[in-house]
Formats: sequence, structure tokens, C-alpha cells
Amino acid sequence: MSNERDRLLPTSNGRNYAQDDISQDAHARELRAAKVRAVVHGLLTVLFVVGVVVFVVLGFNHDWPWGGRLPKDPLKAAQKILDAAPVIDGHIDLPILVREFYANNVSAVDLTGAMPAHVDIPRLRDGKVGGFFWSVYTSCPSDVGYDDGDDFLNATWRVRDTLEQIDVANLLIEKYPDTFQAALTSEDIKQAIRERKIASLLGVEGAHQLGNSIAVLRQYYALGVRYVTLTHSCHNAFADSCGIFEKPKPLHDGLSDLGYALITEMNRLGMLVDLSHTSDATARQAIKASKAPVIWSHSSARAVWDVPRNVPDEILELIGTGANKTDAVVMVNFAPYFVAAEGNATVEAVADHVDHIAKIAGKEHVGLGSDFDGIGDTPRGLEDVSKYPQLFALLYQRGWSRYDLAGLSGGNLLRVMEGAERVSRDLKADGAAPAFDLYDKRTDIGKKRDGRWLVSAGEGEL
Ligand SMILES: [Zn+2]
Repeated sequence: MSNERDRLLPTSNGRNYAQDDISQDAHARELRAAKVRAVVHGLLTVLFVVGVVVFVVLGFNHDWPWGGRLPKDPLKAAQKILDAAPVIDGHIDLPILVREFYANNVSAVDLTGAMPAHVDIPRLRDGKVGGFFWSVYTSCPSDVGYDDGDDFLNATWRVRDTLEQIDVANLLIEKYPDTFQAALTSEDIKQAIRERKIASLLGVEGAHQLGNSIAVLRQYYALGVRYVTLTHSCHNAFADSCGIFEKPKPLHDGLSDLGYALITEMNRLGMLVDLSHTSDATARQAIKASKAPVIWSHSSARAVWDVPRNVPDEILELIGTGANKTDAVVMVNFAPYFVAAEGNATVEAVADHVDHIAKIAGKEHVGLGSDFDGIGDTPRGLEDVSKYPQLFALLYQRGWSRYDLAGLSGGNLLRVMEGAERVSRDLKADGAAPAFDLYDKRTDIGKKRDGRWLVSAGEGEL
């Protein structure tokens, strides 16, 4: 007698069967939901148990430092951490050593044997190195007898010599394909490390190597360079230097107009702005001007050892995360004369620099930029690239966690690189045009002479 419609109508006894049906539906839904919950809980329990088992198994696996106990011996603990998170050094000077000792003849260089200074493949492996910036450095003109003139306009072969340095680095990277892997991005670094290779990046150590030209910057980028230090120990057309031990008289009071344009272009390209060797005014202005995180590829803390080459607390305080802070990584330099008084440079003193920068800027903002092969002497306990684990063992004893140490070894640098890559992508997506700013002291291009445009100096009119 009933059909669907009837059942929805109120009955003579006043009972609303429709209401009953709704209650029954709700009840059924609740039952179904309870069943689903039970199944989900069951699954989660299974997953949790599997997760715990995996965690425990891997935690005691020697290759997995993120769970379980680390070995009691601090050096063994450090080695285990570095196996998973190897060192990415911000500054190694192997190419200038090859220029000075081998006249750039890469065939004569045997990195599988004992090299004359601090770097070769066996010691890189002992030191748990997973990557480094090969510094493609040429001296300031005055350091090698050139006079580049008051306006930096005299030719000094700096661009030629930089290209030769890039050639040396790239040929050595190619010569040992089982060891080195060229890297251009943070993802390339991670990929190389996954393959147990040493990620190899290039860094130009001073804008005096740019021939006063932003176009040269772009070409270095195209050749694989991923940071440019704004100065070495001399001022240049872009920025003021801090000198080595004595602060030189400022020239631009920080960045020149061309220096600001350089930073804009570096941000667009995804070239890291390196503030090692710069004056404090240059560093402050660059931090403000750069849209991307910045680095100090090889600089220590001035509060620990007071030389102009080290970073003062007032600048370390500008670094960090949050309002009015810039993301950055300060990669501690091992050069004994920047670490401590003569005779006192030790692995403990280097650890003091790391600790101090961590105290002021945060542990997420420290890295390592040894300067190996670019320094004559080394700290006791950090004699060459095989010794990084000693520094990590010491910091581990001082209370640095495995995660802090993984940041110090390379994680912090990777984060900063990723930040710079993101800024570059965003700027390009927004249509940012390349910078075509010219050095205003140049007279060979883009200038009117006597009110007339010249094709080039001394030639006909357009
Ligand atoms: Zn340097």
C-alpha cells in the first residue's frame, strides 16, 4: 500500500514518517562514516607502525644520521653527519694555484695524487666534500704591476686572465668526471651529491675582473659563474673594498651608480652577490639594494678577530629571517691572519668564528669558505680539505645538533641559492629587462662628442 510519496506524508497519528526517514538516513550516514573512520584509523595505525619500523631500522643504519643515536666518538658522529650532508665550500683557490704552479697546463696537474697545497681528490674525499665554488680569481691590477689608472680605464688583462681561470676550472672538472660534476643551480648541487660526486661551481672574486662592463657579467654567467664578489682588495668602478689589513680611503662611499646597476642585473640573472672583501658601506648598501639573498663566500667575524676583512656585528645583525632582515650565509674563512693573532689560529678559533656568527645572525646563516689553496698558512687542525670533519666534531661537542651541522656544511648555502634562483625567475617572469648601464667614464661607446654621436672613438658620424 505504500509508495515513496505516501511515506513522505504525515499519517493520521501525527507521526511524520518523512522525519523518521531523515533520522534513519542520518543514522546510516553516521554508521558509514564510523566505518570509514575505522578503516582510516586502521590504515594510519599500520602506516605509523611501518614508519616506526623504518625509522628504527634506518636510525641504526650507519648511512642515516637523522634518526637514532650518533656514535659516541665526536669525530665519527661528524663523519656520519657529513656522509649525508657533505661540505659545500664557498671558496677554494685551486685554479690560481694551477696558474702559478703549472702555468695553466691542466695536463700536468694530477689531482689523484698529492697536490702541493691543500686540495686534491683523496683529501677532498677524506674531508667529506660534496661541492665547492672554484674561485676564478685574478689579482687586483696594482698587485701585479699594472696601473689601471684613476678611473680604471687602462687595459690590465683582467678579463683575459679570468677567462683563462674559467678554462682551467672547467678543464679540471671535465678531467675527473668520476669525481667532479659541473653545477649551475642548487638542484644541480643536490643531484651531484646524490651521485656521490663533488658539485663544482665557479665564483669570480672581484668586480675588477669585469672590465667595467655589465655585459661581461652576463657572459661570465653564460660560462657558468654563479657568484661575483663585488670587490677584491682594491676599489673598482662598481664598489669600495675593505682592503686587507688597513681600510683604504673610500672612493664611492660604498656602491657607485654602476654598482647598483650591477646588483640589479645579478638579481635578474640569478648570480649571487658576494660581499667578502667589500667595505662595510658597500655591504650595507648591497644588502639593501639586493632583492635576492646575499653571501659572504669567505669571511669571518670581526668581533672575534678585528680586521677589516671580517664582518662586524652591526652587519651580522642585518641578516636573518623576519622583518628588516635579509637572508644570507656568511661562510667562515680559515686564513690564519683573519682568524686570530699570529700563531693562535686553530680549529678551535675557527669554531669560535662559526659560533659567534651563529649567535648574532643565527645558525641558519653560517657556512664555510675555507680559502684553501689561496692561503699560504692554515690553522692548526685545519691543514687541508681532509680536515673539515675535525671542525664539525668540535662544534658537535659544543652542542650543535646534527641539523645545525647539516645547515653549516651546505644546507644554508643551498637555501640562499634557491632564494636567489626564485628572485631571478620572478624578475624574468615580470619582464625585467637586462641592464645596459655603461660606466660613465668610458669614452669609447655611447657618448656624444662635441654634440655629435660617434660610431666609435675617432670614427665617422652616425
Ligand atoms: Zn679572497
